Amino acid sequence: MSKLFLPELMLANGGVHRGAGLRVDDNGNVAEVLDAASIAARTDRTDVEVVRLAGKALLPGLANAHSHTFQRLFRGRAEGRKVGGDTFWTWREQMYRAAAFVTPESLYDVARATFLEMVASGITVVGEFHYLHNDALGKPFANPNELALQVMRAAESVGIRICLLRSAYMRAGYRKDPHAGQRRFYETREKSVANAEALQKAAGRFKNATVGLAPHSIRAVPLDAMKELAAVAGKHGMPLHIHVSEQIAENEACLAEYGETPIELFNEHGLLTRRTTLIHAIHLTGPEMDEVSAAGATICSCPTTERNLGDGIFPADVAARLGISVAFGTDSQAQIDILEDARQSEYHLRLIAQQRGMLDQIGGVEIGTRLLHCATASGYKALGVDGGDLKPGQPADFFTLDLSDMALLGMDETSLASQAVFAGSRAAVRDVAVAGRLVLADSHHAQEEEIRARYKEVQQAFLNEEAQ
Ligand SMILES: [Zn+2]
Repeated sequence: MSKLFLPELMLANGGVHRGAGLRVDDNGNVAEVLDAASIAARTDRTDVEVVRLAGKALLPGLANAHSHTFQRLFRGRAEGRKVGGDTFWTWREQMYRAAAFVTPESLYDVARATFLEMVASGITVVGEFHYLHNDALGKPFANPNELALQVMRAAESVGIRICLLRSAYMRAGYRKDPHAGQRRFYETREKSVANAEALQKAAGRFKNATVGLAPHSIRAVPLDAMKELAAVAGKHGMPLHIHVSEQIAENEACLAEYGETPIELFNEHGLLTRRTTLIHAIHLTGPEMDEVSAAGATICSCPTTERNLGDGIFPADVAARLGISVAFGTDSQAQIDILEDARQSEYHLRLIAQQRGMLDQIGGVEIGTRLLHCATASGYKALGVDGGDLKPGQPADFFTLDLSDMALLGMDETSLASQAVFAGSRAAVRDVAVAGRLVLADSHHAQEEEIRARYKEVQQAFLNEEAQ
């Protein structure tokens, strides 16, 4: 049966509508956006289920284009220098501890809780950059995709759409010995390709799941292997995601090994295409940004993590002027709030320039509209998934905001985009639909109590281990 969603305000089909309806077909795709005058004729029909969303604004679902779910386990526990050190590199030791801790069962529980938190913040699709492959001793499981499959199961259970970006990780870095903390990540080049292809075949068993390839970074994957993985992604039409230039030391190591920066190297070897997404891409030169733009590649920026790790500031204004597609990701899960990522990408620039409206009117686009587009359509594009814009034929992935929430009181047609981005609060998210099915309804998820309870058990076991 088709469904008709009736919110007070709706951002769909290229505009903001009041009193309009969103009709969704049996396949979970948008059938049409109905104006107020046409709604009555539909609500009378018995073959249409009417879902009233009075007092709410309906927006395209947020895309989280870069996530490592297991890192949720040590949130807030590596902020001080005593535990987390004072750099990204020392923070990684805590990350290795969480990576070593999880079992297939506990990873499933952590992933479910993390995905539930995402859904509750309006996220409808996640790009899970997954690099946990082996058991705790570094040996492959009987099914080498065991852990990736647990994460996909978790996504299906929560109801979030997922693109599992299966990572390749082959070494600690140029001229570096293998690192014990990375033993769950390592695979040979041959195994990495075979396992990714097997996972893509298995994805059909899950609802709303696809697979992409993610050579971790040029420090973890040598150039020859990177090229082979890109060719495999091309052959299967999969998105290709790579961490790049998060830290200056990574660029320096690449220069020492290849005599070029990562972007120069990727460009020269055909790794930058429309299916490529570069994660972070913070420390890029002007000519490197030109190369990313010319290739039509996406950049996934993760401001809430990048500020947490002290990585640096992504030049979002330069990217906007060059027409580069920019998506957002929650990455380390320091916070899960894509709208916060969106507003920070502007605020960081304001603090540097001591000016306002840094991303406004570039190419004639209003700032709230631009940032919301990055948080939705650009993220879907980065993951190779249709959606991010509620147009006929597109998946009905959306979320609603409560217009009576104090953070949003007074929101209207003209302020919707900029108020959602600059004042939108996770607390105002009420409903979330993936493919037209409400997975969150009036802030309630059917499995939330069980998911919470199981997460708390895993968290406690993680802390108990630390205490020993
Ligand atoms: Zn990452």
